Amino acid sequence: MRHMTKNTTITFESLQLIQPIQKALSSEGYTHPTPIQAQAIPLILDKRDLFGIAQTGTGKTAAFTIPILQMLASHTHAEKGKKPIKCLILTPTRELASQIGESIANYGKHLKSNHTVIFGGVNQFSQVNAIRAGVEILIATPGRLLDLINQRIVSLKEVQYLVLDEADRMLDMGFINDVKKIIATLPQKRQTLLFSATMPADILKLASTILYKPATVEVTPTSSTVEKIQQTLYYVEKNDKKKLLNHILKDKEIQSALVFSRTKHGADKIVKELIKANITAQAIHGDKSQNAREAALRNFKSGQTRVLVATDIAARGIDIDKLSHVINYDIPNIPETYVHRIGRTGRAGESGKAYSFCETEEIPNLMDILKLIKIEIPVVTDHPYAMTVVAYTKPKADSKKAKPAGGNKFGGIRNGGNKSAGKSSGAGKKNEDGNMSGKRKFKR
Ligand code: AMP
Repeated sequence: MRHMTKNTTITFESLQLIQPIQKALSSEGYTHPTPIQAQAIPLILDKRDLFGIAQTGTGKTAAFTIPILQMLASHTHAEKGKKPIKCLILTPTRELASQIGESIANYGKHLKSNHTVIFGGVNQFSQVNAIRAGVEILIATPGRLLDLINQRIVSLKEVQYLVLDEADRMLDMGFINDVKKIIATLPQKRQTLLFSATMPADILKLASTILYKPATVEVTPTSSTVEKIQQTLYYVEKNDKKKLLNHILKDKEIQSALVFSRTKHGADKIVKELIKANITAQAIHGDKSQNAREAALRNFKSGQTRVLVATDIAARGIDIDKLSHVINYDIPNIPETYVHRIGRTGRAGESGKAYSFCETEEIPNLMDILKLIKIEIPVVTDHPYAMTVVAYTKPKADSKKAKPAGGNKFGGIRNGGNKSAGKSSGAGKKNEDGNMSGKRKFKR
């Protein structure tokens, strides 16, 4: 990944990874392990319990999925018949669960281990079928998993590896009791890995009850990654976003930009508008054929197209050197997605720039982002489409200031004013189990 510090002395070979995994990693374009991977992989392969303090964007998913795949590979071939669940990965949201599933599919593509992802809010039918067919690695959100355990569809009696990913978020979302009930059905003898971005007392307590003599691995939090990126924020009416984009792209310094759209339809619309304004642009998203996506990426890399408009899912596979500008046309509703998106700039010590367009409805999403990154994003007020009324509270009294992107004057983040702005879509977002997410609702 572009913004992560990579450890240039340690290689994946030196971590004693088996060939099928190394092959998969090189086809992913990974050259060196990230610090969390370099530290955690040998410990996990050594069968230690692990307390990993790492946020998203550090490469933590690969840090636990790679060694687990390797350990499973050493005992799968001997067994015949239906596979029992040997590894359980618990995660707070359906999006994270799916991302972990994708990572396992990628890193394990030359291995025999199979996996499935289960979460709430959708019919359980296909999930049940997948489990009944036999699955080695189960990635699950707690609510749905507990449901399936209670229905006696899932048995965790043979689990050897347990991962709790984003444990602090699971706690925040009120999943602690479900998590405890699930863990109670697991064998005592197992290897447990707990990852958390923060270490509040509740997490320490949980860690002390479920981890056995754990090794602790800590990596620089996301904020340091994020701080390196020059971020700016534009408050703008929804209908003015396209004009704002054209306005920003008048800056010839922006030779190429990756624009993020939350939806595929939105991505197509942005491209249309850009082309109308004589700006070369192409979209990549799930409805485009593989060929069309590859062509769009090629054209973008070669400089033939100036703007690539992508959805988050489609952008995951993009590997572009020296991406200088990222534009969040929409504010993502999952805060980590913001970090993923802007992390695509500023590769190898160069400082990238990230612009975010925020309409009133998106302010609650923005607040979640500010809470996660713990820095203020400077606001550009001197653009022709500036929204006049903005209201929200500062994320944290101790928050630091992010570097503003050059060439603009900035207004500060303002309090007061139109209170309804912050409330308008304050209903929050549904989590994977169909519940409302966010501390407000879940604190028990
Ligand atoms: P995570 O922190 O697990 O969400 O990972 C963030 C991103 O980093 C993902 O898009 C991974 O595909 C990517 N990534 C993980 N490990 C590496 C690596 N060693 N080299 C390059 N990219 C990586």
